[in-house]
Amino acid sequence: MLASPLLSSLFAWATGKLTNWAGNFEYSTDQMYSASSLEHVQDFVKKQSRLKVLGTRHCFNKIADSKHQLLSLKAMDKVVGLDPRARTVTVEAGMSYGQLCPYLDRQRFALHNLASLPPISIAGACTTATHGSGDKNGNLSSAASALEFVTAAGDVVKLSRAHDGENFRGAVVGLGALGVITKVTLDVQPTYQMRQYVYQDLPMAELRDHFDAIESSAYSVSLFTDWQKQRFNEVWLKTREESGRRFDAPAEFYGAKPATRNVHPIIELNAENCTEQMGVPGPWYERLPHFRMGFTPSAGKELQSEYFVPRQHAMEAILAVEKLRDQITPHLMISEIRTIAADDLWMSPCYKQPCVTIHFTWKQDWPAVSAVLPVIERELAPFHARPHWGKLFTMSPAQLHSSYEKLPEFIQLSRKYDPQGKFRNDFLDTNIFGAA
Ligand SMILES: Cc1cc2nc3c(=O)[nH]c(=O)nc-3n(C[C@H](O)[C@H](O)[C@H](O)COP(=O)(O)OP(=O)(O)OC[C@H]3O[C@@H](n4cnc5c(N)ncnc54)[C@H](O)[C@@H]3O)c2cc1C
Repeated sequence: MLASPLLSSLFAWATGKLTNWAGNFEYSTDQMYSASSLEHVQDFVKKQSRLKVLGTRHCFNKIADSKHQLLSLKAMDKVVGLDPRARTVTVEAGMSYGQLCPYLDRQRFALHNLASLPPISIAGACTTATHGSGDKNGNLSSAASALEFVTAAGDVVKLSRAHDGENFRGAVVGLGALGVITKVTLDVQPTYQMRQYVYQDLPMAELRDHFDAIESSAYSVSLFTDWQKQRFNEVWLKTREESGRRFDAPAEFYGAKPATRNVHPIIELNAENCTEQMGVPGPWYERLPHFRMGFTPSAGKELQSEYFVPRQHAMEAILAVEKLRDQITPHLMISEIRTIAADDLWMSPCYKQPCVTIHFTWKQDWPAVSAVLPVIERELAPFHARPHWGKLFTMSPAQLHSSYEKLPEFIQLSRKYDPQGKFRNDFLDTNIFGAA
């Protein structure tokens, strides 16, 4: 199994199938190697004709798939350095947010935002524009200030926000196409405390009339709905403890009533795997995600899809989806609405536009989900919706191409570091390089 004496085989996978986290697909090869140093990565990359890096396998589509060779950087999970003056932390690319956050907090630092659960690899999240919520919060990639990666030739490239301008902005949401990311530098800020409040049954009409006020009422806002009964089942407000400012949780929030206990986004499910609510103060990394470290977030098997809509179309887009409720709800576990600030990263769905995201956690029934996705995508097309890079969609490559103005430059940039397509796979060939 060993490709070189420098490399150790991480998983034989002889007894089990190598699947993504959700188990909805099996990778097309079981050949996976683990690198434990930059030199190992360089040596391995030079010897392969085609490969993909596997992060924490949390994507629902085949963006990480390879028919040839998978490379794991799981063993490269150390903090390289914290620079308190520059307010940055540099980590090896195999590290997850779940590993980084407690360390940062112990050093009295924090990140600006997190996704719904912590055990996602930092490199995998940044390369797919993974996000949390908050009107003023860019996606997680927007915190990246420098990258180190190994090109197809095995060379080491370092790009930074400060020195490499457009090339850096093209590389951060790189979709795994530019090379093997070996280090990521992230902006940090002084640590902070948060409180989480949940309200139940927000009328759709209140959201329609007060969308901006509701979304800006807390540092991070998530609305959960099953699309039935013209209401949002739950509103999660994540507030930051600011000196001199305190969030006074009202007895009623735009017609919604405060939850009287910790709840799960799917109200019927046990909330023990959810982060603390009821206004109990706690560290940022135990309030920003919805789910606690180490817990399975939903009710077992699931699929996910998510669409980014330019903020100015938020309410129209939500109402367009709501019209489809009777086609959606039978296959749905829960939907979530979040907001994200604009950024300047070429392949980010929030490139130069603040967005609202409409997310669907589906039951694991791909035939049913694949039938309803085109219907949703058709309704959202007038609003120029873009799909999440790591979730399931059926939009055509032509539609994707027309919604990313920087795509031609991104293709050029990829070719600079990977002229023969060593890091490409079917997903990238179809959706990115196909029409090039
Ligand atoms: C339960 C659950 C909850 C989620 N919640 C959210 C959420 O709140 N918000 C959100 O936006 N998304 C969310 N996601 C989606 C998830 O964050 C993204 O799919 C993310 O890309 C997962 O990272 P990963 O490392 O697991 O990716 P993988 O699936 O392992 O890989 C994704 C891509 O990253 C590339 N990659 C990984 N590491 C490297 C590297 N070192 N160098 C080069 N390329 C690399 C892979 O080749 C592939 O192209 C969720 C997913 C799950 C399963």
